[in-house]
Amino acid sequence: MNLPTETLPTDAPWIVVKFGGTSVSTRPRWDNIATIVGAHRAKGKRVLIVVSALSGITDQLKAIGEAHADASRCRELYLGIVERHHALYRDMQLPSRNALDGWLARLDQLLGDARRPAGELSWQAELLAHGELLSSTLGALYLNARGLTTHWLDSREFFLARPQPNQGAWGRWLSASVEVAPDPAVATALAARGDVFIAQGFIARHDDGATAILGRGGSDTSASYFGALLKAEAVEIWTDVPGMFSANPRQVPDARLLSRLDYAEAQEIATTGAKVLHPRCIHPVREVRVPLVIKDTNRPELPGTAIGPNVAHAATSIKAISSRKGITLVSMESIGMWQQVGFLADVFDAFKRHGLSVDLIGSAETNVTVSLDPSDNLLTSDVLSRLCADLEPFCRVKVIAPCAAVTVVGRGMRSMLHKLSAVLAEFGALDVHLISQSSNNLNLTFVVDEALADALIPRLHALLIRAEAMRVDDAAVFGPSWRELAHGAGDDARATWWRTRRDDLLAIAAEATPRYVYDLGHVRAQARGLAAIGAVDRWHYALKANPHADILRALHAEGFAFECVSWDEVEHVRRTLPDLPCERILFTPNFAPREEYRAALAAGVRVTLDALHPIAEWGADFAGHDILLRVDLGAGRGHHDKVKTGGAQSKFGVSLDEIEAFRAHARTHGARITGLHAHLGSGILDAQHWRSVYVQMASLAEQFNRVEVLDLGGGLGVPSRPEDAPLDLDALAAALAEVKQAYPQFKLWMEPGRYLVAEAGVLLARVTQLKRKGDVRYVGLDAGMNSLIRPALYEAWHDIVNLTRLDDAPGEVVQVVGPICESGDTLGNHRRLATCAEGDVVLVAEAGAYGAVMASRYNLREPAAEIVLP
Ligand code: ADP
Ligand code: ASP
Ligand code: MG
Repeated sequence: MNLPTETLPTDAPWIVVKFGGTSVSTRPRWDNIATIVGAHRAKGKRVLIVVSALSGITDQLKAIGEAHADASRCRELYLGIVERHHALYRDMQLPSRNALDGWLARLDQLLGDARRPAGELSWQAELLAHGELLSSTLGALYLNARGLTTHWLDSREFFLARPQPNQGAWGRWLSASVEVAPDPAVATALAARGDVFIAQGFIARHDDGATAILGRGGSDTSASYFGALLKAEAVEIWTDVPGMFSANPRQVPDARLLSRLDYAEAQEIATTGAKVLHPRCIHPVREVRVPLVIKDTNRPELPGTAIGPNVAHAATSIKAISSRKGITLVSMESIGMWQQVGFLADVFDAFKRHGLSVDLIGSAETNVTVSLDPSDNLLTSDVLSRLCADLEPFCRVKVIAPCAAVTVVGRGMRSMLHKLSAVLAEFGALDVHLISQSSNNLNLTFVVDEALADALIPRLHALLIRAEAMRVDDAAVFGPSWRELAHGAGDDARATWWRTRRDDLLAIAAEATPRYVYDLGHVRAQARGLAAIGAVDRWHYALKANPHADILRALHAEGFAFECVSWDEVEHVRRTLPDLPCERILFTPNFAPREEYRAALAAGVRVTLDALHPIAEWGADFAGHDILLRVDLGAGRGHHDKVKTGGAQSKFGVSLDEIEAFRAHARTHGARITGLHAHLGSGILDAQHWRSVYVQMASLAEQFNRVEVLDLGGGLGVPSRPEDAPLDLDALAAALAEVKQAYPQFKLWMEPGRYLVAEAGVLLARVTQLKRKGDVRYVGLDAGMNSLIRPALYEAWHDIVNLTRLDDAPGEVVQVVGPICESGDTLGNHRRLATCAEGDVVLVAEAGAYGAVMASRYNLREPAAEIVLP
């Protein structure tokens, strides 16, 4: 590395760079640190590096603190810590170990310290500090060995812990705060010593010089303190993710990078659980308006998250969803409390006496419930039982734990409540202990049982995007998803045949619009992908998705059978495919009139019954026939409520408790139930879903005598948004093969519709007019809900592009609307397409399923005609 040797001018700007545990744990990471620091230095910046302990070391030191009474356990943990540092030292091939061994010897002395057996807090603080003392020492040795002159500093010389009002002893020693103001004298004194410094995160000192700790994760806050003290140009938090995301990316792969945040929002996201920033690290930099940046040590080229004063031109949006676990709720019930002066003062006084800081509060006529957060409090069962004893004279106390606080964060929360209906519905199905809306209008928090949180958060995140409460289209704030960053943007799983056939499509549109255009090659490719799944004995195409004759012929040639839901569909297939044996047509109607069943039976078509009524009232019609029974396994799945086809709220299927009655009628009339069918919804991208449906159906089928066929229905999803992962066909094949092996006696049938045709079709329309109203811009098309009703009906999301200007940069955010006299006539909300002009051709993707077939002549406007590409 070419390093500048001259010293920088005294007034050279400072940059504070903080590296977290994983960023300092290996030699390659330290090489990254050297590069990052070297680059700043080369640009004329003076650099102060703040480091965490090697990952896991603070936990080990904490374990020593907890095992304080057990000397041999303490020693065992100590030896592990020694070995970990020696191993990195060896790997770094450093010349001398003296400095490192000095700290290890001091740590050894602490094991023999008189305060150890009682585990005194001052001893614990000193113990914990060693993680950072060791890592900063190794770092200084390594950077100097690489030729980057780096001066080691002891952070305790700079930061004096300031006791907070009513702070308990635990907080004073182990969760301390520091008051820092810019001090040019400190900056000048350091500048006289050199250009690059390294110091510890996490630690400060008390008046008497004793060590204080800033709280778990507190190294971020140390970096902020240094940033404020030196009035740095920026504080950079280098960690193991490329920024702050709209949810913990390890929990929600679709979480989006938050490119820019203001201090208050970042504060709120950090406080409510996003571990990537220590909650106390915003305040010091905010006071002096030093920007904070979060970046990935392993991928320094990624832009990260910039946190500073207000973000101009950002849309009102939910920014993130976060959660905190280990929350304890204290519910206090008192009949006499209503309007009783001083009740709250009395109960809160008890919390104060125990040094407990209350987080959320909910109150009712006879109840006050508060939450206690473990990161602010020492929540031992001992402390809690003493608290309860003190509260008992005033009220009946109930402790509810462990809970999780799930928080939705965004500026102007109250103005977004109407967009949260789907989120509220999700919580409505759970037992919510407490809801709290912050008075700063930045957050809405729900406290639920801890066990529910992990599954809930990815669901809520998806709902927030779908309801457009989280405006991920706003490129000023939202960057790529974690998944995209992990796999590269090129991993967009959606079919884009229409890009390569753009000229053909523009030629079609030049003749007339609107037009649906289908690519049969894509239909065939999808069909072959499915046909390769060996466990499925027979595939049916659910032609309600798109009954175009060419598509039926193509799928017939691929060996597909057909599933129809009306007698007219049956006739349409027979007309289109005269050589198709009727036995390869499955008729699965719902609330159809009696004649349709009769006609189907007479034609030799397989009939599925999905209600008691036909067999109970018209049983004789089915005498001597093989029938399939559609069961409702009880819970629906799918991309929208309106496509979930299971559960009591759905009109499909015979519920489990009516199956016996159904069998009795079938027996009476001599109808044979030879197959069971279940279809729980559509747009499902989780391959494991069908495994569980098959298992449920197979165990049900074992109770019947003659069931030969299990029909798992359809519902195979296709990705529509860029971040959607495609259905993993290999995983589906493996899951089905596994269940098939467990129940080899059944034939497995499936009936996909959308999967085969959705991506094969696009809708071409022409821009008619442009409009602006207030901040909202509209692009009007000659196709609307009369051609494609899915966005209005299911809030379906279709990719929309300006095909005429496909390669232009995205323009402003627009509403893409049609010409129908309905305010719901929108094809896409908040889209960023290349700037449109009248006459441009706009393409709506993934329109091959439930597009043309659902079209209408509403407003007496002809819907888009259909064209099949040769
Ligand atoms: P460091 O050791 O670098 O200080 P931390 O483990 O303290 O790193 O913080 C980074 C971790 O924070 C990430 O690995 C991620 O799992 C977690 N995290 C939680 N919520 C978020 C979020 N909203 N955005 C980014 N990371 C988050
Ligand atoms: N090492 C400390 C901890 O693990 C501080 C930090 O990493 O920020 O909590
Ligand atoms: Mg951290």
